[in-house]
Amino acid sequence: MQLPREVIVGKGTLNRIPEVAKRLDLRGKALVMSDSKCYDIAGRAVSSFLEKSGLAVDFLLVKTMTTQDVLAVEDQIKELKPNVLFGVGGGTIIDAAKISSCTQNIPFISIPTTVSHDGIASPLVSMKGSDKPYSILAQAPLAIIADTDVIAQAPWRFVVSGCGDVIAKFTAVKDWKLAHVENGEYYGGYAASLALMSAKLVTENAELIVYRQDEGLRVLLEALISCGVAMSIAGSSRPCSGSEHLFSHALDLVNSHHAMHGEQCGVGSILSAYLYRSNWQRIRKTLKQIGAPTTANELGVKDADVVKALELAAKIRPERYTILHKLNLNYETCEKTAKATGIIN
Ligand SMILES: [Zn+2]
Repeated sequence: MQLPREVIVGKGTLNRIPEVAKRLDLRGKALVMSDSKCYDIAGRAVSSFLEKSGLAVDFLLVKTMTTQDVLAVEDQIKELKPNVLFGVGGGTIIDAAKISSCTQNIPFISIPTTVSHDGIASPLVSMKGSDKPYSILAQAPLAIIADTDVIAQAPWRFVVSGCGDVIAKFTAVKDWKLAHVENGEYYGGYAASLALMSAKLVTENAELIVYRQDEGLRVLLEALISCGVAMSIAGSSRPCSGSEHLFSHALDLVNSHHAMHGEQCGVGSILSAYLYRSNWQRIRKTLKQIGAPTTANELGVKDADVVKALELAAKIRPERYTILHKLNLNYETCEKTAKATGIIN
């Protein structure tokens, strides 16, 4: 089990980098990875704080994260030989830092500039262009420094997506329990409770989050970080990723002009909750309250794409048993489900 040693969330927390560097006894060389936009927002400040802490700092610009890009980053790590890697950016940058630091056996520190999904604190990465459309296990961050002043600069849609990813844990945990009861799969009550608690907290604080103040952002950040920790404890994405995530991965394959990960997972969670005959209306209500998509139209996809994705979802990951595997839905039932939940007309 790998857990972050330092988690610092709040306004102006980038200023605390020297203090964190001292406590973690960071020395030698640091490599800061970012894209040009995130470098301006936070990367430059991170580099300067590290220099003030006595570290030698190199900088690496990342744009996308295909398998090729990651290999290029790994080559840079081999050449520059940093002692620690800082990922400063959104999901792509954090994932690139996570996977390349893991393969090169150095720790990485997560400095998110957006809150669009739970990857900011998890040990998992999603690799674009790989044969697996879902996440794979890498390593947890040594520390997470989330500055809400930085995160507040990102478009509101990222917050909406992050909320969707957390609310999705209601059904992810149901799927995990189902796999345990029906297939004898390992189930960790503590990790499951942590994921569930995050979903409840975001639901209860939806109004506060919509208010767009620092406090709401903190609730979401803490929920996303707790989800990351839940995955570290479980040693897999199980507590945080079930049938609703499979639906989202399937929608990515069905329509390349898809919505954001968390937005799709939120809609997937409505569908899964309906299939479980549980309170799907509450999930939809919270998503609507936050301003997250709850229909195909709002996701920017065709009605048929939603139905196709729901039918395909179980097939893209046969070993991850969920309600979709249990029910083995045909196209007509998928269509009926999407209509009954108001996702399609
Ligand atoms: Zn997710």
